[in-house]
Amino acid sequence: MVERGNHRPKSIGVIGVVHETNTFAPGTTGLDAFRSSWVVGKEAFVDRYAGTKTSMGGVIDAAAELGLELRPGFYTQATPSGMVEDEAFERIADGLADSIAADIDGLVVILHGAMVAQSYPDAEGEILRRVRAKVGDGFPVAVTLDLHANISPEMVERSDLIVAYDTYPHIDIYERAVEATHLLHDYLHGRIKPVQKLFHTRMLVAPQAMLTDSGVMKEMMDLAFALEKEDGVLNISVAGGFPYSDVEDAGMTFVVTVDGDPALADRCGERLVAAAWERRERFVVKQAGAAEAVELAVRRAEGPVILIESSDNVGGGSPADATHLLPHLLAAPKKSLIVICDPEAVRLAAKLGVGARFSCAIGGKSDGLHGSPVPVEGNIRTLFDGEYRHVGAYMTGQYARMGLTAVVECGNVTVILTEERVAPWDPGHYRSVGLYPEQFHMIVVKAAIAWRTAYGDAAKHTIEVDTPGCCTANLHRFRYEALRRPIYPLDR
Ligand SMILES: [Zn+2]
Repeated sequence: MVERGNHRPKSIGVIGVVHETNTFAPGTTGLDAFRSSWVVGKEAFVDRYAGTKTSMGGVIDAAAELGLELRPGFYTQATPSGMVEDEAFERIADGLADSIAADIDGLVVILHGAMVAQSYPDAEGEILRRVRAKVGDGFPVAVTLDLHANISPEMVERSDLIVAYDTYPHIDIYERAVEATHLLHDYLHGRIKPVQKLFHTRMLVAPQAMLTDSGVMKEMMDLAFALEKEDGVLNISVAGGFPYSDVEDAGMTFVVTVDGDPALADRCGERLVAAAWERRERFVVKQAGAAEAVELAVRRAEGPVILIESSDNVGGGSPADATHLLPHLLAAPKKSLIVICDPEAVRLAAKLGVGARFSCAIGGKSDGLHGSPVPVEGNIRTLFDGEYRHVGAYMTGQYARMGLTAVVECGNVTVILTEERVAPWDPGHYRSVGLYPEQFHMIVVKAAIAWRTAYGDAAKHTIEVDTPGCCTANLHRFRYEALRRPIYPLDR
């Protein structure tokens, strides 16, 4: 193929917004939630993301490696939370489309895939519609997505190359962005002619069942990897979906991208759907109640025992202040650690100061679902401004902001009180306040799977806890309104 303008290096743009929207979570998500990650233009983008193991870092490195000139537009992200307000969505969606550099040859769009705005249930579909309107039909557009994307037909229609993470915990975010940039490069040099197709399993799966290094999800990934080796298959994205976004297309899907041959995509997609459906019962998670879970943990001779409270999964949009386990921990004869987001309590601790006696009812303040405030008494050990960079394998180098943070020792229970909700995705979460997992017999993690990159090496046992919350693995607890039915396991 003859290259346009022979000597001009090809150039690509990159834009994006990442938000996982839990439509069952308390409150809404406004513009403010996106402000601290707001970057526009090359200098700001490269300054923030060069050298990081993020999607953005991946695009920067791949572009350099491939001799592509990179022209970043607008990028932002926010911690998973409730419904995105229309005002924020409009600003972001238009901002993305408007920021696309002129005179580029291709575009990478970094998205999550489970973003929901008040008037746009398929937020990413709408973003890609606006992007497509700007760049025109036939313009190469690659998209990176989270493994928890609820992929809609619109998203597939308005883009050329979708590449979703293959891992959960997501430790290949960087690699998938590199892959997407390479595919885009091949496409704009005319070496491939991507055709992508979407397949829905008609299954709704809890994130707890999506761990990719063992079990049923690994089997799905292995099948996808085997099919990816077939001649003409460019990429297979296995999206487990996000069951806490009540949208029409929620659930587990596959996007098969092939070089020119739609029949090949159909064959692969049908095999994947059949394989998922055969395994559907194994995608349902087993759990223990709060009292039972603590009792089981105490009985274990060796710790730390990880109490997985995924109903309050910060990474899924939960308030991070659930207290269902706290009274049981306070009554237990062994040491435990729990992180609770409670701005009011942490400000009180800051006022009292290190070494002071602390007495306050903590947590359970966001809504009725996640428990009520629990009175505790203890000593304030540490106060901290709450900023650290990721040191572990997950998004290494990424900033984390816990806000004002206090460590309070209440008998056997050590509580880390934070001002902001921060997911336990990195050892920085406890190391930054001078704690180590080995000090505790029980550790509560408000996460489904992603806690493994922070605590996995130390964990001796794990117990899945069934407590009420907006990220519970027990999908029967939710009342879905928009979700297309029938779907397994809600409808048998
Ligand atoms: Zn995810």
